[in-house]
Order: sequence, then C-alpha cells, then structure tokens
Amino acid sequence: QAKAQGRNSLRFFKPDMEVVVAARAALETDLREGLRQEQFLLYYQPQVDSKHQMFGVEALVRWQHPQRGLVPPGSFIGLAEASGLIEPLGLWILRTACTQIAHWSHNPAMAHLQVAVNISARQLHHARFVEQVLAILDETGANPERLELELTESQLVEDMEGAITKMKKLKEHGIHLSLDDFGTGYSSLNHLKRLPLDQLKIDQSFVRDLLIDANDLSIVKAIVGMGHSLHLSVLAEGVETQEQRDMLEQLGCIFYQGYWFGRPMPVAQLQDWRSPGAVSTSSVD
Ligand code: C2E
Ligand code: MG
Ligand code: MG
Ligand code: MG
Repeated sequence: QAKAQGRNSLRFFKPDMEVVVAARAALETDLREGLRQEQFLLYYQPQVDSKHQMFGVEALVRWQHPQRGLVPPGSFIGLAEASGLIEPLGLWILRTACTQIAHWSHNPAMAHLQVAVNISARQLHHARFVEQVLAILDETGANPERLELELTESQLVEDMEGAITKMKKLKEHGIHLSLDDFGTGYSSLNHLKRLPLDQLKIDQSFVRDLLIDANDLSIVKAIVGMGHSLHLSVLAEGVETQEQRDMLEQLGCIFYQGYWFGRPMPVAQLQDWRSPGAVSTSSVD
C-alpha cells in the first residue's frame, strides 16, 4: 500500500474510486457494528472561568475500535453524517451526556457542571429533534439547565427559520445554546442577532496565532465585543499557552477551553483534574 510507505510515496498513489467506495462501505459496516456493541465513549474537556474554576465540560465522542484503537471523531463523524448513522449515534451521545449530568447531580463537587454536547446538522434538522432531546432529559432525569447544545453557523444557515423555531423551544425548557467554531462560518450579523444563543465559542484557528498574527488579534477583539454587545458569553477554544490565555483576558474574553487547562479525558480522570496556574480567590500580596 502506498500509504504504508510514508508520506512521500503518497503522490504515486492513484485513488481508485472502487477502493475508496469499498473502504467507506467497510467503515460504515464497522460503524453500524460499533453502535450495536457500544464501542463509543465520551471524553470530557474542562471549560474554565477567569479564576480557572471549571464551570463546564465539553463532551467529545471517541470510538474504541477493536482493531484500530481509540479513533478520534474527525475520522468517523463525517461518514456517520453521510450515512445517516449520526442519528442513532447522536442520540446515544445525548443520552450518555444526560446520564452523566444526572449522575453528577448527586456529587457536590460536580453538580454545578454544565455539559456541552455537539449536535450535527442532520440531528438538528430532524423533524423530531426537540422532542428527542426532551425525551432523553425526561428518561435520564437530567436537569435541562445543565445541558448545553453546540451548534455551528453552517448548519444553522441550511434552514435558519426552522433552526430558530427549534432553538426557541429548547431554550424555553432551560437548555443552553452555544455557537461553535465561531468566525469560520457564514452567518451574518443580522442572523446572529436573531439567534437565541447563550454563548459564542471563538474558533481555535483564531486563538492559535493570536500572539503573532495581528489580523487574528483584531478578529478575536471584534468577536468578543460583538458577543458582549449581544449579551452573550464568549469562550475561547484551543487555548494552549498561558500567553494566549493572558492575551484573551486583555481582550475581554474570560471563558477558556484548551490543552493548557486540560485535554479531553475519560470521566474518571476528570474528578482529579486540577487547573494549571489556578488563580487563588484570596489575595496573595
Ligand atoms: P469541536 O466541537 O470544535 O471540538 C474541539 C476540538 O478541539 C476537539 O477535538 C478537542 O479535542 C480539540 N481541542 C481542544 N483543546 C485544544 C487545544 O488546546 N489545541 C488543539 N489543537 N485542539 C484542541 P476532537 O475531540 O477531535 O473533536 C473534533 C470535532 O469533532 C469537534 O470539534 C466536533 O466538531 C466533532 N465532534 C466531537 N465530538 C462530537 C460529538 O459527540 N458529536 C458530533 N456531532 N460531533 C462531535
Ligand atoms: Mg464543540
Ligand atoms: Mg469548536
Ligand atoms: Mg456556557
């Protein structure tokens, strides 16, 4: 196989449509089997405030594949969407996250946590999406106020009116709504002001070069200002260094998520999570 010989031989590899189609079909069969055998699990990544207190987590799906090991979502969410398998998988993800919320409600150290769940376009546009979410909350006994759904601009513009109607219903039940990967999509300011959101998540691509790219700095500053003027909280994704965190704070962004604070981790590890450079609540001087 050309790929096995390393990067440089990739250019000699002629993708054969039949091979590509067969590989996709095999992955789809695997996905279906993975769902049946519950090979999926959720990792959780801390979301912190300006004092580095964890106020929430983002649930990020992983696939524990019997041969391929732990597979990241980038390798299968696309196919799950294209094949329609995202519908049962998405329901499993929501149910698992809500079960965790209900579980944490009995744990004083974790009961305050908000759990953010990524929703794919196909899930949101399903005619019964709102009913599905409410049924899962009911079934698991999770407090809707602890659930946050992450949507993206590109999925909203597919059917803005339909999406707004659903978002309003979800909000009536106390569910929080966040706009993921903000700044990479197409939504106009006019759309943004109509969306019943609680939070904007600044895409990690703007945070990455914040300290070296003046354009990214301007963009982040603009997003923070815009978010705040619309009364939204603004969270920066992909914070990998203290310098990035400090610059974000200077720009007025006080909610963070990223490797510097903690990588996505299994739930058992989250209990032992300690923030780097935790800001003491009492005065040090
Ligand atoms: P996302 O929702 O924007 O999630 C953030 C991604 O950035 C995660 O990748 C996370 O591990 C990664 N990340 C977090 N902090 C840092 C950092 O400091 N530096 C860098 N370089 N990366 C960081 P992950 O878990 O591989 O997920 C990738 C994407 O897959 C997610 O992007 C989301 O769009 C999708 N996804 C993940 N879980 C689910 C899910 O349960 N359902 C659906 N529909 N999509 C999911
Ligand atoms: Mg997300
Ligand atoms: Mg994101
Ligand atoms: Mg929030």
